[in-house]
Amino acid sequence: MAADLNRGASFSPAAESGARARANLIGGKHVPAAAGDTIEDLNPATGRVHATIPRSGAADVEAAVAAARAAFPAWSATSVEQRADLLDRIADALEARVDELAALESADAGKPITLARTIDIPRAVRNFRFFAGAARHDETGFHPMADAINYTLRKPLGVVGLITPWNLPLYLLSWKVAPALAMGNTIVAKPSELTPLTADALGRIAMEAGLPAGVLNIVHGYGHEVGQALVEHPEVKAISFTGGTATGRRVAATAAPMFKKLSLELGGKNATIVFDDADLDEAVPGAVRAGFTNTGQVCLCGSRLLIHEDIWADFVPRFTEQVKALKVGDTAHPDTQVGAAISQAHRDKVESYLRIARDEGATFHAGGGRPRLGEGLANGAFLEPTVISGVGQDSRCVQEEIFGPVVTLQPFSSDEEAVALANGVPYGLAASIWTRDLKRAHNVSAALDTGMVWVNCWLHRDLRVPFGGMKESGVGREGGRWSLEFFSEARNVCIRLE
Ligand code: NAP
Repeated sequence: MAADLNRGASFSPAAESGARARANLIGGKHVPAAAGDTIEDLNPATGRVHATIPRSGAADVEAAVAAARAAFPAWSATSVEQRADLLDRIADALEARVDELAALESADAGKPITLARTIDIPRAVRNFRFFAGAARHDETGFHPMADAINYTLRKPLGVVGLITPWNLPLYLLSWKVAPALAMGNTIVAKPSELTPLTADALGRIAMEAGLPAGVLNIVHGYGHEVGQALVEHPEVKAISFTGGTATGRRVAATAAPMFKKLSLELGGKNATIVFDDADLDEAVPGAVRAGFTNTGQVCLCGSRLLIHEDIWADFVPRFTEQVKALKVGDTAHPDTQVGAAISQAHRDKVESYLRIARDEGATFHAGGGRPRLGEGLANGAFLEPTVISGVGQDSRCVQEEIFGPVVTLQPFSSDEEAVALANGVPYGLAASIWTRDLKRAHNVSAALDTGMVWVNCWLHRDLRVPFGGMKESGVGREGGRWSLEFFSEARNVCIRLE
């Protein structure tokens, strides 16, 4: 193809990080919303506006889809090697800017800078490198018959729509962009309007790495306006959506009758199960990490802690002590472990569950209120890491995704009861179990209705494995070949030999 795939490396996210206007990326150009409207982007830790983004609408989506369609023939005709090389160059360019991108992500999402620097941005780098390798080493099937041979062609889908949430902004966007590009698709992406800055930076970095104009388009704005228009667009062949279950249901209702390919990565209400034979020196910090990483705002967070009754008296004080020791506050300080909730509105939602727990007579072992923090953070959406017990399995605090720094504790007395409690919610995303008993680990893992089970660990990720949920946690799988399959159409060619 004629596109210039040469590297460029002059964009600096830091230079772009002032309280300034971001733009959509459409057809290689940075443009405002057609209607000229904007949205203010806040730092949730300070409550201050640090950028504005376009409030786009259907006209902007239309322009982005047209640009993606125009770019598709040339991009889909590039070789796997060319595309993989380009993904590697994007990874290199992201890696060269880890600190600057981490600062953007931390400010945009109210997350601790150390978390952004060690998890979010390095994982975005890995996503591009991983899918470059996965595409290079991908294989398709060959099925011989007595009188014919079959082989499988893997073709790109065309224009794909990527919709991502605010909790892991660049991490999750790159998890979709990389395989979509690797398989030869062109993209219209809609990041959360709450955390648009690293998506904007990715668009610029990808262009400078040599991505041809129109291959990656980014349209900012609200979900019910931009997201909805993207899902409804007849020329968008697939929607890869990560977000809440209620939104996912709406996306499915729109996209399914249009026979679009759909990947839905939705909410979770995950159990951490600690058996009486667990090594508590590992299980206690493991459960703290599972409960409170990213202020409890990870779909995989272990927000329901199930503890064998025989170790309850030992486990709960140790767990509570470590939760109380978590450092909450200034997201720019390298020692901070818990940042702000994504917004004041979201903190209000989390607090509404704490009121429910109080009304139900729950015991608060830690937290339950807003921390007193220094000047500059008074308008931040902070909450104390909170641990509660005494809520029943039917409580909304146990059944619904709170998505904040809140963990409920429940006792159990047998493996069967632990499995029944863990499975007794509408979600089925992930679980972690802590035990030294190998048979128990296998049997309980098999009995859990979740897409993922971690044994004696949590969020230990190999990017080749299937990632996704059961029940109301989603449809489809991402990761490794599952992502490559989603972003391509497998086609059979049968050649008769006689
Ligand atoms: P959300 O409200 O469902 O939003 C997700 C994305 O969808 C945002 O970009 C949103 O835009 C957009 N959107 C909203 N309405 C839409 C519509 N009608 N059509 C198309 N797109 C629309 O979720 P969130 O609050 O950002 O994220 C938190 C949720 O994501 C939690 O439930 C969490 O468990 C889940 N999550 C799941 C995974 C997983 O892998 N399973 C990973 C991370 C997060 P706006 O921002 O403008 O609303």
